[in-house]
Amino acid sequence: MSHNILVVEDEPDIREMLRFSLERAGYNVEEAADGESALEYLSNNIPHLLLVDWMLPGISGVDLVRKVRSDETIQDLPIVMLTARGNESDKLASFDRGVDDYITKPFSPKELQARLKAILRRSGQGEGDQLKAADICLDTVAHRLVIADQTIHVGPTEYKMLEFFMRNPGRVFSREQLLDHVWGRTIYVEERTVDVHVLRVRKLLAPFGYDRFIQTVRGAGYRFSEVD
Ligand code: CA
Repeated sequence: MSHNILVVEDEPDIREMLRFSLERAGYNVEEAADGESALEYLSNNIPHLLLVDWMLPGISGVDLVRKVRSDETIQDLPIVMLTARGNESDKLASFDRGVDDYITKPFSPKELQARLKAILRRSGQGEGDQLKAADICLDTVAHRLVIADQTIHVGPTEYKMLEFFMRNPGRVFSREQLLDHVWGRTIYVEERTVDVHVLRVRKLLAPFGYDRFIQTVRGAGYRFSEVD
């Protein structure tokens, strides 16, 4: 099955380039030049993924995301934001606004395809049910953690945290964001609790030397990365 992607971008050249590389990767591409026409399209169609430019005339990309997230029929749509800004705080802000991933312009078609593939897999629309990093294998169907062929007992919170980290490698998350994603917004948990569970996850990985994958980023939060 090929996935339908709605590209919302006002610059014709970039839209054309996106269509070209996405169609080459086997996706069906629909285009909208602004937020208004995107919403009109979405009132009759539900694509598999939304690729939205941050800077749009009229309804901004951020406002479009907000509208999608408040519409019950399409609120679960995976959304990837295209941004020309390299500023880390903008990216963190876009996560807070309900974006699943962001891609900074200029980007390579290869990077774009890899990101979209990951998002679609994450949203349960892709193939495969295993997350891997070095010898770590997380079976997201059986909720099983295997490291170097050994099954490791893992508590539910540690499992959720590790899964979230492994689905988002290389990205820094604040304690608040980890609380939202691992515990959910409805539960009140102190930010210090995040640190406790990060320690526990590190402890699970430590016998294999992989505790270094869960990295503390001073003043920002935590990140999962195979690279120091
Ligand atoms: Ca634009």
